[in-house]
Amino acid sequence: MANELDVVSSNDTALATDKPAFSLKSLNLSQKCPAVVVAPTGSKLSRFAFPKVKFEEGRRCRISILTEDVIMLKLHYHPEVGSIICDGGACCKYCDKVSIKYCYPCVMYETDNAGRCVSTKVEPKLLVLGGEMYDQISLLSEIGGSITNMDLLFSCTSTQYQKCQVTQAGAAQWMNNEATAKFVSEYMASNGSKVMDAIGRTYTAEELAAKIGDPNAPIADQKCLSAEDIGSVFNV
Ligand SMILES: [Zn+2]
Repeated sequence: MANELDVVSSNDTALATDKPAFSLKSLNLSQKCPAVVVAPTGSKLSRFAFPKVKFEEGRRCRISILTEDVIMLKLHYHPEVGSIICDGGACCKYCDKVSIKYCYPCVMYETDNAGRCVSTKVEPKLLVLGGEMYDQISLLSEIGGSITNMDLLFSCTSTQYQKCQVTQAGAAQWMNNEATAKFVSEYMASNGSKVMDAIGRTYTAEELAAKIGDPNAPIADQKCLSAEDIGSVFNV
């Protein structure tokens, strides 16, 4: 019986219309296949455990950074491969341009357009910053003595280039709600290792050769994007 669909007989609408309704709960799908998630309709599954934060003009984001230390990396963009984290190896033979990124695991609050919280819900995300926004964060960290004990408001000034004005917005609110704090702690414990998934990865010379072709082809023959193009790619 446990393997069959449940008829939800307590549903008044179903009784009134004689329409049978079913639930997935009794199938124990997640138990049989841990990669499967059963949730109420309206819930969404994201491709990455920490999707990149995307800023939008006219909408303020309220964010709390989760780590005092920062992930620093160099990033290429190749149109056929996507983002490539630079290891100074074969990647540099295919792409001459490189941009420097600073990344933090963070939580984004559910807010209105002005950045005011509308619930206690938070979404774990990856904050990917260029030098200019990182300087603003560094300054706030220096003034406050810590970057993780505060909420930050990001007021986007350019959707295209993902530029924001960053201001401090009081103490970190997610810590004040017991359920939210528990969710964030557990999420970081079980998904922390996937924090970089959304930004790209490094590739061996063999992998790049298989994907793109001859690594000795002159750079001029390869399509590489400028820093501005990379900015707009982050925006997609
Ligand atoms: Zn490289």
